[in-house]
Amino acid sequence: MRFTDEIGWVLRSARFMIIYCVLDQKNRLILIFKLLFAVIIFFIKPLLLEIRLYQYAYNLNKAGIAVLVIFIYSCISSQNKKNMDPEHKNNPHYSRTDTTHLKVSDEEWKKILPKDVYNIARDKGTEWAFSGKYWNTTGIGTYYCAVCGNPLFKSDAKFASTCGWPSFFESIQPGSVTYHVDNTHGMQRTEVLCGRCDSHLGHIFDDGPPPNYKRFCMNSLVLEFEPDTK
Ligand code: FE
Repeated sequence: MRFTDEIGWVLRSARFMIIYCVLDQKNRLILIFKLLFAVIIFFIKPLLLEIRLYQYAYNLNKAGIAVLVIFIYSCISSQNKKNMDPEHKNNPHYSRTDTTHLKVSDEEWKKILPKDVYNIARDKGTEWAFSGKYWNTTGIGTYYCAVCGNPLFKSDAKFASTCGWPSFFESIQPGSVTYHVDNTHGMQRTEVLCGRCDSHLGHIFDDGPPPNYKRFCMNSLVLEFEPDTK
């Protein structure tokens, strides 16, 4: 393979990853099904015809449908795994009323939290832009910490941001979040932590809207939205 071919592959892969991240779950399924179908039709079918396996070649459409069914099933299964503990029955520290500051080790959180939540909350990871479930939500209610249940933001402090992460201009109370200087990744930023459990939520920037021009740039995975009842 020539060097220019390798560059082409890298660019095509990068373009695919960008498109994949921007799409929602349903359209991701459609995109991946199209790719699988293309692989079958353009690579496998000619190969089977070439080696004279005609019957297998003409059954490929059925195989394509089977691949689609298996793929959708695996996606649904993985989604269900993420929501295995929606009521926090395995999390003895979760409470929406208790304001006691928690001192829980990462080892214990690792046993309690779903892997993707732990990655953000305790390993200070960041979800892909436009991938979280709250980046463009507009419902009326309260956003809680998904780790400990601490109330963090009201929906009336949420604003439409083009950054791809849920954005707020103020927290629900001054002490509901805490701040920490973050000099990682060659940047000077201010990290935002949950005021009760010290979990990483995201960062705060000075490019928000009036009145205070703040932008709490949060990760959907560590938030939990509860709509108002009336
Ligand atoms: Fe918390």
